[in-house]
Amino acid sequence: MEDNQNITPRQNIHFCPSCKSENIQKLSLTYMSGASKTKGVGIGAGMGGGVGLGVGLASNQTLLSTMVAPPQISSPLWGALGVWVGIFMIGSIIVMGLFPDSLINFALMIALLIASFWSASKVYHRIAVSNKAKTEEYGKKYICLRCSNIFELAQ
Ligand SMILES: [Zn+2]
Repeated sequence: MEDNQNITPRQNIHFCPSCKSENIQKLSLTYMSGASKTKGVGIGAGMGGGVGLGVGLASNQTLLSTMVAPPQISSPLWGALGVWVGIFMIGSIIVMGLFPDSLINFALMIALLIASFWSASKVYHRIAVSNKAKTEEYGKKYICLRCSNIFELAQ
């Protein structure tokens, strides 16, 4: 009678690849708890006499928060709006200057409008995809609470 029950669950336990500690936590969770701890330390330092210790803990927490902070993501809407306004404004200045004829002018302005919208939607899509990738990558990352190693768990 083979009993694999003791072996199989063992493989599901995740550990730090550097120090083999099982004391690991998701970066996103660490960031949230780290931010609240910093506040607590600040209040503690204000009330107690241990200013040196308080400051030390606070800066440690801040460093940890910086290490585990989520990626900077830019707004796809603002990026697209910037591209649209930029292309349309520069384009219309050129069109107005080069083609005073109102019919060509009108046709070119329509084309410009379509081109700027098209470019803006491309930019929107690109930023959105990049944000999604960054967020997904961040969601997969763990930090070792023993040696502060940041790593991705092998699936
Ligand atoms: Zn470790």
